[in-house]
Amino acid sequence: MSERTLSIIKPDAVERNVTGAILKMIQDEGLKVVAMKMIHMTKEQAQGFYAVHRERPFFDSLTDFMCSGPVVVSVLEGDGAIARYRKLMGATNPENADEGTIRKQFALDVEKNSVHGSDGVETAAVEISYFFNRLEMVG
Ligand code: ATP
Ligand code: MG
Repeated sequence: MSERTLSIIKPDAVERNVTGAILKMIQDEGLKVVAMKMIHMTKEQAQGFYAVHRERPFFDSLTDFMCSGPVVVSVLEGDGAIARYRKLMGATNPENADEGTIRKQFALDVEKNSVHGSDGVETAAVEISYFFNRLEMVG
């Protein structure tokens, strides 16, 4: 079934100029980009995005990191897009990420792990609408 998922190329990756390389891996996987933009979040916007993690010990550090520089947010579409993109990203901690995954190739550590992807149908819908309106998406 065709799905949409939210991708974020995180500040550590944008800063190292590997946005294009990551987008190539996404496109080579057959996922279609149906919306995309570069933004620089405020601390409040990062806190809002990661609100589900607000009780976690890494919340303050994570939200500082996510607003430390620009990110590239996009909406990816395809059959099973949510699970396929999670698989392509690899494990949260790059030490555990499989060969051929984005995090294996680019992530620096468990926090600066280069990409975000939605983890379910409902979170995908919430996350997409956090960043994009209908006019900003094709199809
Ligand atoms: P994401 O939600 O960014 O796609 P994920 O679903 O693999 O990643 P989550 O458990 O949702 O992982 O954690 C969200 C983000 O918080 C991680 O991607 C990472 O940047 C950061 N994070 C997770 N665990 C830790 C940790 N133990 N220490 C520091 N940062 C962490
Ligand atoms: Mg997550």
